[in-house]
Amino acid sequence: MTDSKTDAQPKALSPEAEYVLRHHGTERPGTSPLNREKRPGVYACAGCGTELFVSDTKYESGSGWPSFWAPAGAGEGVATTTDRSHGMVRTEVHCAKCQGHLGHVFPDGPQPTGLRYCINGAALSFRPK
Ligand code: FE
Repeated sequence: MTDSKTDAQPKALSPEAEYVLRHHGTERPGTSPLNREKRPGVYACAGCGTELFVSDTKYESGSGWPSFWAPAGAGEGVATTTDRSHGMVRTEVHCAKCQGHLGHVFPDGPQPTGLRYCINGAALSFRPK
């Protein structure tokens, strides 16, 4: 018997999350409520719940997108690929588990890593501690 409500079903996504995670979209800068999120907690993948970032590494980059200088833990939640779209060479960041597109990582972040994970808020689900 097939139960249509089992966990094997893909999680229902908001239209914004669907656009970013599954269609490599980018939300308009400054539109995510998570830009202003300052509470301690965990930022998980909106598609599959994998822990991606923690509040300790979040900072205000001025870009209009939630920004982090490192992924959570040893970085096992995220993976990267080279993105040559739009006439640029960028490093694309995606969820290591569900492959959902998250954003990009740039080498202009703060110490101690010097990295800026520029992440679409629509791809994230915040869990306050
Ligand atoms: Fe995911």
